Parts: sequence; C-alpha cells; structure tokens
Amino acid sequence: MKIHEHQAKELLSRYGVPVPRGHVAFTVKDAINVAKSLGKFPVVVKAQIHAGGRGKGGGVKLARSLDAQQLPGTAEDVRQLASAILGMQLITHQTGPEGKKVGRLLIEEGMDIKRELYAGILLDRSQAKNVFMVSTEGGMEIEKVAAETPEKIVKITIEPATGFQPYHARRLAFALGLEGDAFKSGVKCFTALYKCYENTDASLVEINPLVVTADDRVIALDAKMNFDDNALFRHPDILEMRDLTEENAAEIEASKSNLNYIKLDGKVGCMVNGAGLAMATMDIIKLYGGEPANFLDVGGTASAQTVETGFRIILSDPNVKAILINIFGGIVRCDRVAGGVIEAVKNTGIKVPVVVRLEGTNADIAAKMLSESGLSFIVARDFADGAQKAVKAAAER
Ligand code: GDP
Ligand code: MN
Repeated sequence: MKIHEHQAKELLSRYGVPVPRGHVAFTVKDAINVAKSLGKFPVVVKAQIHAGGRGKGGGVKLARSLDAQQLPGTAEDVRQLASAILGMQLITHQTGPEGKKVGRLLIEEGMDIKRELYAGILLDRSQAKNVFMVSTEGGMEIEKVAAETPEKIVKITIEPATGFQPYHARRLAFALGLEGDAFKSGVKCFTALYKCYENTDASLVEINPLVVTADDRVIALDAKMNFDDNALFRHPDILEMRDLTEENAAEIEASKSNLNYIKLDGKVGCMVNGAGLAMATMDIIKLYGGEPANFLDVGGTASAQTVETGFRIILSDPNVKAILINIFGGIVRCDRVAGGVIEAVKNTGIKVPVVVRLEGTNADIAAKMLSESGLSFIVARDFADGAQKAVKAAAER
C-alpha cells in the first residue's frame, strides 16, 4: 500500500525524523488557514498524489504571500497557487499521460536549503536484507543517478540479526560529507528513519531530497513510503491512511469480489485460476511476443459469477484486444467453468476474441459445451497453443 507525502511525514516525525512544519489541506480555504498558522514565508504548496516528479510537473510551488489581493505586487500567493493546483490533472513521469487529479495539498514552511541529498531504505529480495542507500545527488531522479553515475550511490546492507547499528548511521553521514552539527543531525535522522521503516513494516521509504538547511539541520523535505500489505493488519492506523481515489478502480472492484487483479499495459487479457498458473500465463504470452493486459487469479473455486465479474474487470481496460482463459480444472470442474464462461459471454456481450484453454476434470465435456454454445470461442489444444492464438488474435486488432 502507498500513502501520501503528508501521511508519511506524520509517521516519520513520530519516530523523530525531522520534517518541515506543515499540514494537509483539502480546500483553498484550508490552505490559507494552514499558511497563516505557519506564521512566515515562503510557504510551499505541494500537490499530494501517489506519484513522484510533482515538482517538474508543476505540482510543487513556493508562495510568498497569502493573498495577492491583500498584498499587491506579489504574484505567487497561497490562494492563487492552491486554487491552481487543487483539482488539476497533474502529469508526471510516474503518472502516465493521463495524469492524476489532485485532491489534497500539503502546505508547509519553506526551508532555506544548503544541500539536497537522497536517502532510501528498501528490502533487497535477492539478499533477503534491508538496504540503506544514500547519495549526494538529491533532488534528481535516483533511477537516473543509478544508471549514469552509480558510484554516487552508497549502499549499506543491514544484517537482520543485529539490526541497524550506530556505526551504520555514522558511515552514511560520512559518505554524504556531513560535518559538525549536520553530521550529528544526520546520524539521528538515519537512526530514526530506519526505526520507522522497520517498526511500520514498510517495504520502502524514500527521502528525495533530504536537505541540509542553512543552519545545518538535516530534514526530510519529501517523503515516500510503501507498506507490505500482508503486515497491514498489525497497523490499523496506517491502513486508515489508504486513499482509494488513488487506486485503480478495477483493482478495487476485484478485491471486493476476492479476485486478485493487477492491471498491466498489454493487449492480452488473462483469466486464470491459481496465482502460479497466472504468472506462467503472463510469461508464455511474452514468450510468444505479446504483452499481458493484466494478472488475474480467479481462485481455485471459480463460479459462473466470479468468471463473469472477471470478464467485466478485464474488459473495463480499453487496451484489451483479446482474452485468454486458462483454467486447470482440479478442484473446480471444467464443465462448470465452461458454463460460467458461456453465461458471462452472453451477459456481457464481449466484442473481443476469447481463447479458451480448459484442462483437467471434465475437459472433454467443457470442450463440447463451448463448441455447441453458438458463440465464437477460439478453442486451444494446450497451453502454448492458447497463448499463441491469443497473441495472434490481439495483434490482428
Ligand atoms: P517531487 O518532485 O514529487 O519529488 O516533490 P519534492 O517534494 O521532491 O519537491 C520537488 C522540489 O521542490 C524539491 O526537490 C525542491 O527543490 C523543491 N522544494 C520543495 N520544498 C521546498 C522548500 O521548502 N524550499 C525550497 N526552496 N524548495 C523546495
Ligand atoms: Mn522528491
């Protein structure tokens, strides 16, 4: 699960990570009131969406007054910036071309920045350990730094048995060239950051930029946090931060019906039972030169109803040009699935070609049902044949 910057900053500050003073605002009026309460300028007006690159996209602006009408001569005021940013369709390199609608702002004090650094913690699955990364190249896309100047990223691997140690924090601070008060502030900040990451079961925390202020304080100017969904039951306070307006509508719909659906960017819609088979299906589609439009596991006990819901969800994606149904009838019988597929195709009036591969219990009966249904299914002999037919059908449209 992802959360907003203002929520991440609230969590971080509970653990002692310094963040700028500020507050979330849902309306222009709220924004002006928060700015007033901060008591000084400049004030930063920041769009809150679950995507980075907001600065470049015009979603982060500095305001020098509350309301230009009251203070003539100053163009950039909180009222004007908040009105412009709230409700805008913000496009960044992470949102896709359609952008994301801004529903809330973070209004916070502007900082006097001396240096912009980077700090991030994430789970390195290949090592099964947490990795703490820092870089002097803050404020830029870290992916770009990693690709062009990887030597500018310093990584420390944390042993799970011994945890984060004071020497880790000092090594990170040295790597960033911090000195004096900034060094002390940095060591405290890294220690608190790690504690927050670990105690909240986060899977990622990224501070870009982590800044050194003119008075040598180290502060998290931006904050991104992702959490391990399987641990959220331990953190009801974090679960409450979930913002459904940021999530894919089809994915929410699927989760209501206990279907595991993840939207992807390809043209071949997939309806599969079992997560392993669903993964293999995506792989084989790619092997034959196609791209899957989604991951969908309809579960071991797919009924006519779940199959129909699955179809609706897959078809809500306009990129889908063909559907591959790949079901292994173990617990669920193929004839039952076939019945569900026929029913669902009739009810939803599917316009794209549907390739069906059913194998296992009662597969022969299922094949007969499909061919006698009067609907134009493309029946596949086996897994590879099904994938090839689906990729071909999608490419022709
Ligand atoms: P992102 O573009 O979505 O990653 O949003 P950030 O929170 O990183 O903001 C983008 C940029 O805005 C930062 O890299 C800073 O350069 C600038 N910025 C954000 N807050 C302040 C501030 O308090 N003072 C100044 N001078 N610049 C800021
Ligand atoms: Mn940033």
